[in-house]
Amino acid sequence: MTTKAQQLEQIATDIIKNNVCPDLAMQANRLVMGDGNPDADIMFIGEAPGKKEDETGLPFVGASGKFLDVMLAAAGMRREDVFITSIVKYRPPNNRDPSTAEKAAFLPYLLRQIEIIQPKIIVPLGRHGMEFFLPGVTIGQIHGQPQQMELHGRELVIMPLYHPAAALYNARLKQTLIDDFIKVPVLLKQLETLPKKA
Ligand code: URA
Repeated sequence: MTTKAQQLEQIATDIIKNNVCPDLAMQANRLVMGDGNPDADIMFIGEAPGKKEDETGLPFVGASGKFLDVMLAAAGMRREDVFITSIVKYRPPNNRDPSTAEKAAFLPYLLRQIEIIQPKIIVPLGRHGMEFFLPGVTIGQIHGQPQQMELHGRELVIMPLYHPAAALYNARLKQTLIDDFIKVPVLLKQLETLPKKA
């Protein structure tokens, strides 16, 4: 029996073995797979590692990460309670947006992470983390509005939020993100009190 942590580690091994996005791999220092509780009910999905993440191997440890920590604390959550990752696991050069091909290349590995962790709520942070789950809509249209979906035969809720980097220097977006963010633990409580399906 392998543990969830071992299964998650195997994903990193497979990304290297399968030579996913070799151009990104060549320029990045390391894979940034994600961090947190493998049994988390809430999984955050960002865009791609930045400079600090590429240096440390940990997700969301730069400026966006500091803001994420503040919001987690405001919502009564700790990093150890949740799981934090990004769709693309190597830093794109100069922090450019990940390409469609790069997101597609990493998607199967993100889906494996979700299969292992089995979160009740997925919180995409920004459009790159959201577009697979909710294609054809913009974050501006549906941020903070929970959407139910079925993934691999399991019901889960997608709660799209603005990316912390987008909100960091825009006071209005920042307040919107904080307001949306504190709805996440409330939503989890609601899901936990729903009667279980037969
Ligand atoms: N932004 C992201 O989307 N992911 C990280 O890990 C860091 C910054």
